Order: sequence, then structure tokens, then C-alpha cells
Amino acid sequence: MKSDIRVCGDWEQAHERPVYTLGESCPQCGADAVNSAPAPFSPSDPHGEYRRALKRSRPQ
Ligand SMILES: [Zn+2]
Repeated sequence: MKSDIRVCGDWEQAHERPVYTLGESCPQCGADAVNSAPAPFSPSDPHGEYRRALKRSRPQ
């Protein structure tokens, strides 16, 4: 099993800064925790691209 540190998948909306966890969900807001690897999007986070697309659609 991998032991990668994960980050709250919704931290940009739910928190002022990334919330890291070793679990599968955010300890603060309960959102899914995603791999914190600095990739544009993670294949292990199938909903991440959807969330990012929503963010991109917002006005600057
Ligand atoms: Zn969170």
C-alpha cells in the first residue's frame, strides 16, 4: 500500500490553505482526499478534472 500524503480535494474552496491527511478524506470538511502529487490532475482523482473545469469557468 502506498503511504502518500493526501490533500483535501476541496481545500481551495473549503480552506484557506491545503489540508493534508494520511486518510482518504479530509479530517476537517470530510471531502475526498486526493494524492498530493503536483500533477495538473491525478488519474486517481476522477472528479478532480470536473472540479477544476468548474473553477476555470468562473470569471477572473
Ligand atoms: Zn477539507
